[in-house]
Amino acid sequence: MREFLYIGNTARVIFGCRTISKLADEIRRLGASRALILSTPFQRNDAEALAQKLGALAAGVFTRATMHTPVEVTMEAISVYDKLEADCIVSFGGGSTIGLGKAIAYRNDAPQLVVATTYAGSEVTPILGQTENGIKTTVRAPSILPETVIYDPELTYNLPIAMSVTSGLNAMAHAVEGLYAQDRNPIASIMALEGIGALHKALPAIVANPQDTAARAHALYGSWLCGAILGTVGMALHHKLCHTLGGSFDLPHAETHAILLPHTIAYTEAAVPDLLAPVAEILGARRAGTGLYDFALGIGAPMRLRDLGVTAQDLDTAAEMAMSNPYWNPRPLEPAAIRDLLQKAWKGERPS
Ligand code: NAD
Repeated sequence: MREFLYIGNTARVIFGCRTISKLADEIRRLGASRALILSTPFQRNDAEALAQKLGALAAGVFTRATMHTPVEVTMEAISVYDKLEADCIVSFGGGSTIGLGKAIAYRNDAPQLVVATTYAGSEVTPILGQTENGIKTTVRAPSILPETVIYDPELTYNLPIAMSVTSGLNAMAHAVEGLYAQDRNPIASIMALEGIGALHKALPAIVANPQDTAARAHALYGSWLCGAILGTVGMALHHKLCHTLGGSFDLPHAETHAILLPHTIAYTEAAVPDLLAPVAEILGARRAGTGLYDFALGIGAPMRLRDLGVTAQDLDTAAEMAMSNPYWNPRPLEPAAIRDLLQKAWKGERPS
């Protein structure tokens, strides 16, 4: 067996239908009594309803969370937090809202409770991506990791099918890359395969019926496991390419992951077929890359970068950017093959 180092992130995870009803007790458990509830404008009604239910435990709501966690919004939220004399944060939503909660906690060490409503997995990572003057940077710190996470599948019934699909594939991407991480370990790999299996089973069922409680629960369970992988082992080509493309061309996060995943995995699989064989097996395919392509196509995922507004010329820029900032990947970055990968993803062609 390989030598390994295992470090787990400690979070209190409460999973199950109607577990949102435990939020008040969880706030008190952290020794807090005045929560600032965060959401995006889109989830404002839910955030306000939650504040009403919490009664005196809610100090107020801040509903201006937005993509890429701009520092200006964080500073605005901190001034609201201070003015309301809040003593903890409740982030109700997906990665954008959780990002805001993390950005606040990074600056004032506020305890964070997260009610996760997408499959992005940010709630179980000590990682924060934030934007200042148009530049997105990533930081890692213990204060960024939320203390308590509530996963209530019933709160995901309204996550639109298209977003459920792309967010689910975003989660799978964390786990697939975790399997060949330089710092992989047996626990992370077991969790990764369990997470991929859960999402593989859940997503087609959600597409068939978004109110399927068992499928929603399975997807949330899978996304927790996949998020935990992102939080504990290093990511490679897939995440770096999504970061570069997403940041440079302002592409939607989950869609970019969904489109690139089969291609980046097919590229890397050539170097580590044995590590990805269990993924192919879960997908019922001969190979992981093509298996992911067929799976994504079957559940109606977006398949073409061109549909996100990326132009053919952008691909040259993207390939150059990927090559100018090389990073570790099991298969080293080869300029022509990376350009070819992007071309296939742009056209939506099946990887070979
Ligand atoms: P999101 O949080 O931007 O949500 C997208 C939209 O869906 C929002 O309008 C949101 O309010 C809405 N929404 C969320 N849950 C819903 C529900 N159940 N029903 C109806 N609408 C709902 O999307 P995301 O993909 O979860 O997060 C993307 C962001 O998270 C990116 O900025 C990404 O960089 C970040 N992220 C960070 C990490 C990390 O570890 N730091 C991990 C994953 C993603």
